[in-house]
Amino acid sequence: MTILLGCIADDFTGATDLAGMLVKAGMRTVQLIGVPQEPAVADVDDGIDAVVVALKSRTAPVGEAVAESLDALRWLQQAGARQYYFKYCSTFDSTPRGNIGPVAEALLDALGSRFTIACPAFPANGRTIYKGHLFVGDLLLSDSGMRDHPVTPMSDANLVRVLQAQAKGRVGLVDHADVQKGGGAIRSRFQALESEGYRFAVVDALSDADLLNIGAACAGLPLVTAGSGLALGLPQAFRRAGLLAESGAADALPPTGGLRAVISGSCSIATQGQVARMRETHPAFRVDPFELACGGDVVGAALDWAASRMDKGPVLVYATAAPEEVKAVQAQLGAAQAGSLIETALAEIARGLLELGVGQLIVAGGETSGAVVKALGITGLRIGPEIDPGVPWTVAISKSSNGRPVALALKSGNFGTRDFFIKAWRFLQPSD
Ligand code: ADP
Repeated sequence: MTILLGCIADDFTGATDLAGMLVKAGMRTVQLIGVPQEPAVADVDDGIDAVVVALKSRTAPVGEAVAESLDALRWLQQAGARQYYFKYCSTFDSTPRGNIGPVAEALLDALGSRFTIACPAFPANGRTIYKGHLFVGDLLLSDSGMRDHPVTPMSDANLVRVLQAQAKGRVGLVDHADVQKGGGAIRSRFQALESEGYRFAVVDALSDADLLNIGAACAGLPLVTAGSGLALGLPQAFRRAGLLAESGAADALPPTGGLRAVISGSCSIATQGQVARMRETHPAFRVDPFELACGGDVVGAALDWAASRMDKGPVLVYATAAPEEVKAVQAQLGAAQAGSLIETALAEIARGLLELGVGQLIVAGGETSGAVVKALGITGLRIGPEIDPGVPWTVAISKSSNGRPVALALKSGNFGTRDFFIKAWRFLQPSD
């Protein structure tokens, strides 16, 4: 296989964000969960333009972050990527020791490349860079809430200085005056900086038009490092080079059939509304944490219940509860213990549902989704149409244990409209 863009994202939601941006910009994209094992290369279809490897390296010790990122790079090199993209947060979340600088330099070395950019700008989300300073809305990064972040506090908005503190090589700047002149002017600045011995250029960007110019200028760079905003600019550059089709439904998914179910372990306000809405019109089974704690066969009961109902339409299995109920459960069982008990049960129910013929499954809750994906042994997801902002349908890249492809929508707590569980099916082909 050959892919155009091989991406390494330093956390899971960041990877999802980037994958969604690439699909919208017209690239058929697969998101991999962690550094894939060898066989996964073959599991990824030929018709894929971009692969995003989701790591958890943002706050890992530097050595670990570098090693994991190099592992991901090696996999992407085997997959034949033309260009590599190290994706971090649009607020440049990092500590003075790293990990952005050390990871970027390790990737440059591994690729035999001398120069790259650093551009976390994402103007549509209020992240802009001017004279090398990162703004969050109207505030300098160092005056924004990021100042007090518990793990990666950002007390300096000057990205040249921030990156220089993390990197061995020199860090320069491509000023907005050059960026707005277009791709050619930016590329000339890159060449000048590289010949003066700079290893990085922080690049100013105030608008999507700037990101398109920067994307064009990056066409010859083996590695770019950026937030997800640059995903706007790169596909256009591939198109100009004749490597990517002009249009085409990048979000088209392979067909999935089978029965339909929703599993909800999120107690966020949005999810509570979505559960209440689905219960009005669809069969629903409540997972009782106390019964689970007493050792009752809740999983078996949920699966027996579902087996006799799913042929008539989507069913809901939920642990979702209002705050006072959650508090009562946590008071008795302990918060962490209750959480993992419920996650484990819901993940087992998911596995059982697939065995009963479910081929299209919505999972609500970030941690709950993590547990389900792990229990199902899913290593990667092809990204499909967006149901609501930030929540696409996906199809697992390997077939499930029941031998059929499975469509998954993994919804974090507060995402989605009240009718999310009802309307989501419309974005897929009908069940058989
Ligand atoms: P979100 O994305 O809304 O944060 P998560 O799945 O990440 O959802 O987290 C919700 C957590 O709450 C999970 O650990 C889940 O097991 C737990 N949980 C779900 N239902 C209950 C409940 N009724 N009582 C206590 N904890 C619950």
